This record gives sequence, C-alpha cells and structure tokens, in this order.
Amino acid sequence: MIGAQRMGNTARHRNDSNYLPVPIRRSPFLVRRSGIYSLFAIRYLLVTALVAGLSQAAPAQQRPAQFVDAAALVPGLIVDMRYAGAHNFVGRPIDGYEAPRCLLTRAAASALAAVARDLAPRGLVLKVFDCYRPTRAVADFERWARDLTALAGKVEFYPDVDKRTLFRDGYIASRSGHSRGSTVDLTLARADGRELDMGTPFDFFSPRSSPADAGVGPPARANRALLAASMRRRGFRPYHKEWWHFTLAREPFPDSYFDFPVR
Ligand SMILES: [Zn+2]
Repeated sequence: MIGAQRMGNTARHRNDSNYLPVPIRRSPFLVRRSGIYSLFAIRYLLVTALVAGLSQAAPAQQRPAQFVDAAALVPGLIVDMRYAGAHNFVGRPIDGYEAPRCLLTRAAASALAAVARDLAPRGLVLKVFDCYRPTRAVADFERWARDLTALAGKVEFYPDVDKRTLFRDGYIASRSGHSRGSTVDLTLARADGRELDMGTPFDFFSPRSSPADAGVGPPARANRALLAASMRRRGFRPYHKEWWHFTLAREPFPDSYFDFPVR
C-alpha cells in the first residue's frame, strides 16, 4: 500500500500540471477482480499506464538535446521573433514564447547556416520571424481565432480577410509544422538589416502572400524566387500559400509535435 502510494506521488511530481487523480480506491470492479493480481500490482499497472499515456499526449517539457539556438550556428542571422512580442497578427506575446529565441533542430539550423553562407557573397543575410513553435502557442492562435472581438492586428495583417474564415481558408490551423522544430519563417535582408521587398509583409493573410501570386511586382517576385531557390538548394521545401514558410524535407521529427517553451 505504501509502495503504491509512493508511486502515485512520483507520478504527480513528474506530470505536475497534467496529473489526473484516478479513483482506484473506490472501484468495486478492481476489488472483485483482484483474486489473481494483488490490488497493489493493479494500482502499479494503472499508474504506470497513466504516466505512459500522459507522456505520449504531452511530449517532454524540457528542450530536447537535438534542438539548438539557430543564432549560434547561422552566420549573420537576424532574429525577429514576432510571437515573443506584440508585433504580430494577435497584437500581444503568444503562449509559450518566453524569450525571442530561434530554436530549431540541429539539422534545420545546419541547413539554414548553409543557406546563409551561400547568400553572403550577394551581401544578403537571413532574417527569421518564427522557428520552433510550442503546441501551446498553436492552441493560443486557435482560441484567438474563435474570439471574433479580438481584432488588434487586423489593419496590418488581415485587412481584406473576414476573421470568421481564417480556419476555412487555412491561415490558422489546429496543428503547425513549426512544432516539429524544422520549419522556419524568414525573409532576406541586406547586411544592415533592411528587408528585401517581398510584395507582402510576413504573416499577411492574403492570396498575394502566395509565392507564385502574379499580383506583386517583378522585384518582389524575383526576391521571392531567390529566397525559395536558396532554401530548396539546402533541402527546404517551400509552402505554396506563404512565401516566408519553409520546412526541412528530411526533418528529424516528422511525427512529433513538441510543447516545451521557447526560453
Ligand atoms: Zn510558418
């Protein structure tokens, strides 16, 4: 009994916020069926299963060793993490961004470093707007999208879009590839930090943000093409709706959505 109790306490510590009490003590079913296994063993199995289940539903809260700070690897990288501050379509910092840090898997950061080295002779650097995104941030976007009265960022980021259609039109989704750690939102800039003209700003919800949109001017189309070609060359896949969004094709965690905070 004491052992089982201690096991329960351990589970509570490990999964602090996720701990769910299980009404084992009051279950007549378990007591009736405990002829072969002792109640202790059944408790142990249930608690173990509960811990395993929770850790699958909510991945580790610690930053895995495979994640790095991209600024340490990518030469000249300009980091402008929009969701860590108020200059974004929501108009406030987003859940899970505790520091303006670009975290990526080492594989994605290394590929990005190669892109930066390729572009250096042109006098260009990379400027990132978002990197790894915790799943709690995606949940924050979802809650925001359902609140039709929160319109702080509308004029700058979605002047032509009815907020009610953000899900339907794919601007907001309930899961993001960014949570897998090998997706990055970025643009090209001069060494002094001036961004190249891409036709629309980052996170502008509009068909004009599609890389192939013919409505933007020739210089912007050329800059979008240069960004896409540079990223493709080092293994990133572009996204047909957003000129700024790229995913490492051979990402190390294709099925894992992480939730550790950015700090
Ligand atoms: Zn993105």
